[in-house]
Amino acid sequence: MSRVMLITGASRGIGAATARLAAQQGYALCLNYHQRADAANAVLEQVRGLGVTAIAVQADVADETQVLHMFEAIDRELGRLDVLVNNAGMLEQQMRLEQMDAARWGRVLGANVIGSFLCAREAIKRMSTRHGGQGGAIVNLSSVAARLGAPGEYIDYAAAKGAIDSMTLGLAKEVASEGIRVNAVRPGVIHTDIHAAGGEPDRVERVKASVPMGRGGQAEEIAEAILWLASEQASYTSGALLDVAGGR
Ligand code: NAP
Repeated sequence: MSRVMLITGASRGIGAATARLAAQQGYALCLNYHQRADAANAVLEQVRGLGVTAIAVQADVADETQVLHMFEAIDRELGRLDVLVNNAGMLEQQMRLEQMDAARWGRVLGANVIGSFLCAREAIKRMSTRHGGQGGAIVNLSSVAARLGAPGEYIDYAAAKGAIDSMTLGLAKEVASEGIRVNAVRPGVIHTDIHAAGGEPDRVERVKASVPMGRGGQAEEIAEAILWLASEQASYTSGALLDVAGGR
C-alpha cells in the first residue's frame, strides 16, 4: 500500500514541486489549495500522470472547519495518512512594523501559524501510536526569515516562521515516542510567486547578492529536502531545522 502524504498549499511553488517529487517516489497524495483551483488541478493531472492516487481538496488552513473537512476527505478517499507537509504560507505587502494593523497580523499568523497547528493536530490524531496510528512524519515550512527577522519587509511573517521553529522543537519531543518525527525546512530566497504578494516580484534578483552561492534557489531544491525528511532515510532525524538557503 502506498504511503499517503498531505501537502498543504500544493497548487503552486514549493508545494507543487514537492507534489511532483513525491509522486515520482510513489506517494498517494492529498493536494490542498486555497483559491487557485486551476493551478491545483494542473498539478493533480501531473501527479496522476505519474500513476499515483491523488485528490485535490480546497481548504483555507486557517479555518478550523475547513481543515476538519479536508482531513475527513483524506480518511474517506485515501484511508490513511503517513506524512503531513505543512507548506501553505503567505506574506503581505512589504512595510515597516509601525505601518501594519492588527487585521494583517491576524491573517499572517492565521495562515502561517494557526494553519500549521490545525493540520499538525489532525495529523497526530491519525498517525500517533497513542491514538492507534502507525506513526509518520511532519515536515514544516519555516524560513531563514525566522533568524534574519525581515526588517523593513515583513517582521510579522518572520515572527510567524519563528513560531513554526518553536512548534517544531516542542512537537518533535512531544510525539517522538509515538512514532512521529517532526522537522522543519528553512528555505532561503526561492523563485516562486510569494515575492509578488510582498509587492516585489523580482525580490530574488535583489536579494541574491547576499546569498553566498550568489543565486536564488529553485522550488525543486526545497522539495528534495522535504522528501528526505519525510523518508525512512531520515529515521533518526527529529526536531531538526534544516536550512536550504545557499549558505545564507
Ligand atoms: P507560493 O508560491 O506563494 O504558494 C503558496 C501556496 O500556499 C499556494 O499553493 C497557495 O494556494 C497556498 N496557500 C496560501 N495561503 C493558504 C491558506 N490560507 N490555506 C491553504 N493554502 C494556502 O509560496 P511558496 O514560495 O511556494 O511558499 C511555500 C512555503 O515556503 C510557505 O510556507 C513559505 O512561507 C515558505 N517559504 C518560501 C520562501 C520563498 O522564497 N519562496 C522562502 C522561505 C519560506 P493557492 O494557489 O490556492 O493560492
